[in-house]
Amino acid sequence: MSVGVVRESVPGERRVALVPGSIPRLTRRGLRVVVESGAGEDAHLPDELYERAGAHIGDAWSADVVLTVAPPTEAETARLRHGTVLLGFLAPLSNVDGVKALEAAGVLAFAVESVPRISRAQAMDALSSQSSVAGYRATLLAAQRLTRFFPMLTTAAGTVPPAKVLVLGAGVAGLQALATAKRLGAQPTGYDVRPEVAEQVRSVGAQWLDLGIEAVGEGGYARELGAEERAEQKRRLTESITGFDVVITTALVPGRTAPVLVTAEAVRGMPTGAVVVDLAGESGGNCELTEPGREVVVHEVTICSPLNLPADMPAHASELYARNLTELLELLTDDEGRLAIDANDEIVAGARVTGQYREEA
Ligand code: NAD
Repeated sequence: MSVGVVRESVPGERRVALVPGSIPRLTRRGLRVVVESGAGEDAHLPDELYERAGAHIGDAWSADVVLTVAPPTEAETARLRHGTVLLGFLAPLSNVDGVKALEAAGVLAFAVESVPRISRAQAMDALSSQSSVAGYRATLLAAQRLTRFFPMLTTAAGTVPPAKVLVLGAGVAGLQALATAKRLGAQPTGYDVRPEVAEQVRSVGAQWLDLGIEAVGEGGYARELGAEERAEQKRRLTESITGFDVVITTALVPGRTAPVLVTAEAVRGMPTGAVVVDLAGESGGNCELTEPGREVVVHEVTICSPLNLPADMPAHASELYARNLTELLELLTDDEGRLAIDANDEIVAGARVTGQYREEA
C-alpha cells in the first residue's frame, strides 16, 4: 500500500506531513512512501533526504493514503481517487464546503483535530504538538516586539526590571508561552477559567491570576461564559492587564468564536510600547482591537495576530506532526502495511469526518 506526502499549496505553509526520519518506521511496516517533489523544501528537507530514507519521489496525490498538513483545496481534492484515505488538519467545523467535497469524492478522511484527547491518543495529538510550537513562538514574537528587556539585568549602566507577561488561556499553547517567558527571564502570570490549570501554571514557574470565575465544560475544555460572567470577567481583566508589559492570549472554546478578554480600554491602560500577541485570531481574536493576520499599533501598544505560527518553525513543527501522523497511520494499518480500520475504535470514530471503510473480501 502506498502513502503519499504532498507539497503544501497554502501560501506561507512551510510544514510537511512526514519528515525523512519518520519514513523507515513506515517502510518497515511494508508501506511504500511516495513524496511529491519539493514537499519538504520549505522545512529544509530536500527530495534527496527522503529518497535516502527509503521514499520515492512521485505523484503523492494518487497514493492509497494521502498525508497533508492543511486541508486540500478544491483542485487538490479533485486529484484524490475514490476510496483514498486522507489524514491531515481538515478544519471539519469551519471548512464545511471542503468536507462536503471530500465526501462527494468518496474519500475516507480523518481530521487530526478531531482525534479524541484521551491518554491512548496522546502521541497522535497534533493539536497539542502544534499548539506547543505556537505558544513558544508567541512568546518569542512578543519579546522581539517589546521595546524592553524580558530578563532583569544588572549592568554598570543601571538595572532594568524583568518584563511582566500575562498569558490568558493556559491550555497547551498558553503553558508553553508561560514556560518560554520564564526561560527568557520574564515574570510570567497565567490565567484561565479552568481552576485545575492553576497547578500547571505554577509548575512552569509562573504566578496564577485568580479572578474567581470558573467555567469548566465538557471533555476537559472550558465552556462559554454567560453574558453576566463575561462582563464581570472583562471588568476584572481590564483592571489586571494595566500592570503588564506583554499579554499573550490563547483562549478558545471548541466550536465557538473566541471570547473577548482584552478590551480596547484594557489596551489603553497598558504601558506605552507594550505588546499583545493574540493567538486566537483565526477564531475572531481574544482582543477587541485584533486584526487577524495583521500587526497594528493602537494607543502605542503593538497588537499582533499571527495566523499560523507553527509554519514559522517548520523543522520541529513538521517533526512533531510527522510523529503524530505516523502513530495514527499505525492505528489504521496492520503489520503487513494493509488498511485494518476498526470503525468502532474510539479514536477512529472520533477522527473520521467523511467516507466509510469497507474491508475487502
Ligand atoms: P484550547 O486551545 O481549546 O483553549 C485554550 C485555553 O483557553 C484552555 O485552557 C481554556 O480553558 C481557555 N479558555 C477558554 N475560554 C476562556 C475564557 N473565557 N477565559 C480564560 N480562558 C479561557 O485548549 P487546549 O490547549 O487545546 O487544551 C484544553 C484541554 O485539553 C486541557 O484540559 C488539556 O489538558 C486537555 N488536553 C488533554 C490531552 C490528553 O489528555 N491527551 C491532550 C491535550 C490537551
